[in-house]
Amino acid sequence: VFNFAAGPAVLPENVLLRAQSELYNWRGSGMSVMEMSHRGKEFLSIIQKAEADLRTLLNIPSNYHVLFLQGGATTQFAAIPLNICQPDDLVDYVVTGSWGDKAFKEASKYCQPKSIWSGKSDKYTKIPSFETLQQTPGAKYLHICANETIHGVEFKDYPIPANENEILIADMSSNFCSKPVDVSKFGLIYAGAQKNVGPSGVTIVIIRSDLIGNAQSTTPVMLDYKIHADNASLYNTPPCFGIYMCGLVFEDLVAQGGLIEVEKKNVKKAKVLYDAINDSNGFYRCPVVESVRSLMNVPFTLAKPELEAEFVREAAKEKMLQLKGHRSVGGIRASIYNAMPLAGVEKLVAFMKDFQARHDG
Ligand code: PLP
Repeated sequence: VFNFAAGPAVLPENVLLRAQSELYNWRGSGMSVMEMSHRGKEFLSIIQKAEADLRTLLNIPSNYHVLFLQGGATTQFAAIPLNICQPDDLVDYVVTGSWGDKAFKEASKYCQPKSIWSGKSDKYTKIPSFETLQQTPGAKYLHICANETIHGVEFKDYPIPANENEILIADMSSNFCSKPVDVSKFGLIYAGAQKNVGPSGVTIVIIRSDLIGNAQSTTPVMLDYKIHADNASLYNTPPCFGIYMCGLVFEDLVAQGGLIEVEKKNVKKAKVLYDAINDSNGFYRCPVVESVRSLMNVPFTLAKPELEAEFVREAAKEKMLQLKGHRSVGGIRASIYNAMPLAGVEKLVAFMKDFQARHDG
């Protein structure tokens, strides 16, 4: 089966098999990772290795904390303004899709966000040119969603905040660890694990240490980065099994040669799929501006929308699953995260050509 789900999504087979082999008795400990104390030496070794491998992968500078949290990226939509701002502080959001919009709306409960650019009127198919952004003087941060999972638009470069001391913040949920990133350009990066790096239930926050410790006084302890940083993500019981799985994925990505190699594979896969769409003479159509098409989520429509349900049904029969577009936009969406092999994309493309041959004209 090839699973094109947007998340939770496909994980590397070798990682799943390794987890299976260790499920009942983790490395001779006599315990499953699910049964261990999060304060025992076994789990400490797991979380420390996961962090070390992630630091290697993203070349995370030593003045950044890595936090393994819960509550999904959605919880970070609130935690970020609560930790970085006071209620009267101004902040800017670039809204390139539904997730950026959700983050923007949630922030308005805790500070004074402004949407300085929105792609909504273009159905979220674009990324703005950075020179045209009218950033707010005195804004504390500039928030972007690095890859919009539903719409398939991805930042290929990143804007620079206009104000001194202002930081760039990115939701990288759906392209985390899919390519190298210069972490030092960001004050904070966050990502839910369940696309590229593990099961749902783990949220990763990478934050520059000087930004920690100024949370609003009403911030719940579970949202306070200082609490989690001071306790090395072990203030309360963390999602132990999920962190273990993320650790196995990080180790696998390191073994693949790191994110430069991973990006090469992702570029190749995406090209095969986008080329097939471009070469279909309009039978398939991707609405996203070519230069900002996502390497991870490829949305497309059929010139005859009445065929879309059949496309999804037939693909499923051929063991290509979860290709239906998000309910808010319809069409088809193929998510081709790190763990999707090139063979899966090639099989999809062969199916698309065959489907077209049977229905064109
Ligand atoms: N941000 C992006 C880009 C996403 O794709 C998602 C979920 O799919 C979220 C945020 C929300 O994440 P979660 O469900 O982990 O709260």
